[in-house]
Amino acid sequence: MVASARIAPSPRTVADIVREDLRPRLAVIDAGQYPDDVLRALGAAGAYTHHVEGSPAGLLGAIDAMAQAGEACLSTAFCMWCQDALVWYLARSEEQGARRHVAAFAHGAGLGGTGLSNPMKAFSGIEPLALRGEREGAGYRVRGRLPWVSNLAPGHLFAGIFSLPDGQRVMGLFEAGSEAVAIAANARFVALEGTGTVTVMVRDAYLADADVIAHDAGAFVPRIRNGFVLLQTGMGLGLARGVARLMREDARGRHDGRFLPLGPETIEARAEALRERIAAAAERHAETDRATFLDTLRLRLDVSFLALEAAQAAMLQFGARGYLEGSEPFRRLREAQFVALITPSVKHITTELARVA
Ligand SMILES: Cc1cc2nc3c(=O)[nH]c(=O)nc-3n(C[C@H](O)[C@H](O)[C@H](O)COP(=O)(O)OP(=O)(O)OC[C@H]3O[C@@H](n4cnc5c(N)ncnc54)[C@H](O)[C@@H]3O)c2cc1C
Repeated sequence: MVASARIAPSPRTVADIVREDLRPRLAVIDAGQYPDDVLRALGAAGAYTHHVEGSPAGLLGAIDAMAQAGEACLSTAFCMWCQDALVWYLARSEEQGARRHVAAFAHGAGLGGTGLSNPMKAFSGIEPLALRGEREGAGYRVRGRLPWVSNLAPGHLFAGIFSLPDGQRVMGLFEAGSEAVAIAANARFVALEGTGTVTVMVRDAYLADADVIAHDAGAFVPRIRNGFVLLQTGMGLGLARGVARLMREDARGRHDGRFLPLGPETIEARAEALRERIAAAAERHAETDRATFLDTLRLRLDVSFLALEAAQAAMLQFGARGYLEGSEPFRRLREAQFVALITPSVKHITTELARVA
């Protein structure tokens, strides 16, 4: 019987999924369709497992996988980052309860996100923490509102941080879509509409100790923040490379725009140089000091500017063709703006860097 046993089809790679599933759907995702099945397929292909062990090479592997999707679609790359960030926190947690979820999210069986924009800003003294909690029994009672959390639908999990009356901060895992953790899609964005981005209203939710990621988030966040920010670079690298390819495929525009200041070769060279810096920074991701974090932020800033400048260069090359509604370079330009505004935004990073200048 062995001879007649069916040979299991070889699993598809990230490149296969991007080519076969993602590229044909770019317009509908841009219009707002959340690519749930693509994200699960990417998980089955191993896109979210690279960084589970916390090695520098693993971080780079996760970034490279995200960049492959980002070459085509930033919405998908951003959802991958949401998923990757969640896996990152769970895998770095010292709580057995939280760690029990690692495998499901690393393989894409479960999908979820991260509500850490507000805490990242709170840790920088930019705004107060939006969630507040109190100890109750073997857990915490939590309330508050997060304006936007992505990669969410009912039943998806996300990480959030709340403060206790004594000022201590706790990080936990919440399930979206119940009465206590209600979600509502109440905004329309100029891009990134297909990212399952919702407002989260936490109304006296009960977080059991089994779902705590860190009882002392103040000590935990410095351990995960370099990885959190470095992972985001996959979005910008992918977008820049995708734009370079778009410019190169446009033979007429390339000829007419050959004297423009930024062309595909330079974009690709800058992306490669940044990737080398990211690889070096990944070696130091576990260092908790402020100087290392500031280096990570500088790198993240440079990735944002590459994404913005690359997308702008494509617009200049395409001219009026790019200015037509529905044009590809304009989709990439709208997406590139997001790389620069998602926390830590250019505004946030420049504030941090100005403090040490
Ligand atoms: C499509 C989309 C998806 C998103 N997904 C997520 C997600 O998954 N998870 C998540 O947590 N967040 C998410 N966000 C939120 C995002 O990361 C930002 O936090 C949010 O867009 C607001 O950031 P902002 O820089 O525009 O801040 P603002 O809205 O400009 O500022 C917020 C507050 O901070 C103050 N402030 C801002 N910058 C400074 C500064 N430099 N110095 C002093 N005060 C300052 C402002 O005055 C204001 O009070 C998403 C946003 C979008 C648009």
